Amino acid sequence: MRRKLFVGNWKMNGSLVANGVLLKGVRAGAQEARGELAVCVPACYLAQCSQILSMSGIALGAQDVSSHTVGAYTGEVSARMLQDFGCRYVIIGHSERREYHGETDEEVAQKAQRALAAGLTPIICVGETLAEREASLTWDVINRQIKALLSLLEPAEVEGLVVAYEPVWAVGTGKNATPEIAQEVHVAIRALLAQKSAEAGKRVRILYGGSMRPENALDLLQMPDIDGGLIGGASLKADDFLAIAKAVL
Ligand code: PEP
Repeated sequence: MRRKLFVGNWKMNGSLVANGVLLKGVRAGAQEARGELAVCVPACYLAQCSQILSMSGIALGAQDVSSHTVGAYTGEVSARMLQDFGCRYVIIGHSERREYHGETDEEVAQKAQRALAAGLTPIICVGETLAEREASLTWDVINRQIKALLSLLEPAEVEGLVVAYEPVWAVGTGKNATPEIAQEVHVAIRALLAQKSAEAGKRVRILYGGSMRPENALDLLQMPDIDGGLIGGASLKADDFLAIAKAVL
């Protein structure tokens, strides 16, 4: 049985004051969540959030990691550094990083390898754009993105991943995938993972991301292969984030 996981992706939002208020709210309702909670915060706030979340049971995560281990890489943050600040998770290959920073499938796989080596759990984002969906390319895109990971990682490493299916056309648009569409893609992702490791096929949690809200969470989370959510906008309001995490029967 895979335990549900709800991850807030704060993106480039927050301030010292706002983070304190938001996390206080999340902490206050965390006991009622029907799964594990995590927040992926901007790197500059990791120390603050790590302190606020200590002993809360809410996991801390980052939104990106370097594909290098250490050295002359100005502006980069290594996996060891994230681990130093108590991170458990790191989002890798978010569509905004793929689109605005030109991240390739190979770089995403390298980052995943670095994160795993430092004891972090990578949350690997995959998903097609609207143009790709309309051109019936969803499977090709998912296949390419997942295969790049599988060709670099060992079976045991694949077992340590979390995958987030985030159709790009649903991220931040207010338009979510239907539960049926999401379930279909999650099953396909699971089958690909199982080709590398049967255990990974059973164990890896596959989250849905893309305009998940309290209103649509229950329908999505009822699907057998949707193991939680990667939540952007709605994670910036404690009540909405918690309502999603409680929307499991
Ligand atoms: C995301 O940023 O990963 C995301 C899913 O955003 P939103 O929930 O706002 O669509």
